[in-house]
Amino acid sequence: MIDLISLDTSQLENSLVELGEKKFAAKQIRLWLCKGVPFEEMTNLSKSLRTKLRENFNEGYAKISQKHTSMDGTVKYLLELTDGNLIECVVMQYHHGHTLCVSTQVGCRMGCSFCASGIEGLIRQLTAGEMLSELIAARESGEINNVVLMGSGEPLDNYDNVTEFIRAMQSEFGIGMRHISLSTCGLVPGILKLAEEKLPITLCLSLHSAIDEKRKKLMPIAKTYTINEIIEAAKVYFKNTGRRIIIEYTLIRGFNDGQEDIEALKRVLRGLACHINVIPLNAASKNMDSPQSISEIADSFQPPSKKESYTFTAALERSGLSATVRRALGSDIEGACGQLKRRVREK
Ligand code: SAH
Repeated sequence: MIDLISLDTSQLENSLVELGEKKFAAKQIRLWLCKGVPFEEMTNLSKSLRTKLRENFNEGYAKISQKHTSMDGTVKYLLELTDGNLIECVVMQYHHGHTLCVSTQVGCRMGCSFCASGIEGLIRQLTAGEMLSELIAARESGEINNVVLMGSGEPLDNYDNVTEFIRAMQSEFGIGMRHISLSTCGLVPGILKLAEEKLPITLCLSLHSAIDEKRKKLMPIAKTYTINEIIEAAKVYFKNTGRRIIIEYTLIRGFNDGQEDIEALKRVLRGLACHINVIPLNAASKNMDSPQSISEIADSFQPPSKKESYTFTAALERSGLSATVRRALGSDIEGACGQLKRRVREK
C-alpha cells in the first residue's frame, strides 16, 4: 500500500483520479496529513472518500516505537516506518525553543569511523514525507521551532527528497529556512548544487580535522574530496546565501586536539565566514555491553574531558577563530547518531 504522506500534491491528485475521485480533495488531504490525522478524522472529506482512502492507502505516518526522555529534557524517539524500518529523531530544548534533529536516510553509506549510523551501510533513502512524519511525531513534545538535518544519514546523498522536505517544512509547517540547518560530511557537488538553489538554510560541515591525512582516517569520503575543495565549495555557499558556515569538529583526545590541529584549522579556514562547533566525542557506544564495535580505529578513540574541550576551544579563539563547545544533550539516552537504534537491534 502506498503511503500518502510520501506523495506530493500532484501525485496525490493522480492517485485520486485513479480512484475515480476529483482532484481538488488532494489539497484538503495534504493539509490533514500534515496535521498527522487518520483518514477517519478528515472530517471535511465525504465518508465514501474516507472509506476509499482507508481501503487503498496508508497515511504513512511513522509510529513512535520508543521514547526516551533525558534528565536535561532531551527526548529521543525511535520511530517505526510503515515498512518496519526504524529511524531516530531527537528533540532538544534550548532557550530559543525546541530543535528537532531529523534522520535523512535509513542507515548511511558514508562509514565515518566514530559514527554508529553507518555500521550497516545504507538501507534506503527516506522520502520527503517520511522526514515530515518525524516532525509530525516529534510535535507531541511541543512546538518545533528549529530543525537540523543532522540525524542518521547523509542529507546530500538524498538530495531531491531532502530539498523537497525543506521546502515543505517552510510552506506547510511554517518553519522558515533560517530556522533550518543541514549537516554534511562534505559532498562537494551536493554543496555546490545546494548553493545554486540559494536557500537561506545554514550549512554545517563535518570537518573533524583540517589535515587531509588525518581526516582520511576518520571519514572515507575524505579520499574523494580534499579539504581545500570542500572549503572552496563552502565559500561559494556563503557567497550565494550570506549564511555563515558552521564547522563541526568532533574532538577526540590525542587525535585531533593538538597544536598542529589548531594551526591547520587556522590555515584552512582563513577567508571563510564560519563558526566552529567543538563536539566532544560521544563514546557511549563503548559503554554498552555490545559485542560489535563501530570500527577498529573507533575502539582506540577517547572522548576529551570537559576541561580539554574548553582548553582546545579557547586556543581556537585565541588564534582568531570563532568557536564554542556544543552542549552535550541527551548523553544519558544514547543521543548520538544511530546509537539507540543500534542497541535496540542488538537486543
Ligand atoms: N552525515 C551528516 C549528518 C549526520 S552526522 C554529517 O556527516 O554531517 C551529524 C554530526 O554528528 C556529524 O558532525 C557527525 O560527525 C557527528 N557524530 C556522529 N557520531 C558521533 C559521535 N559518536 N560523537 C560525536 N559526534 C558524532
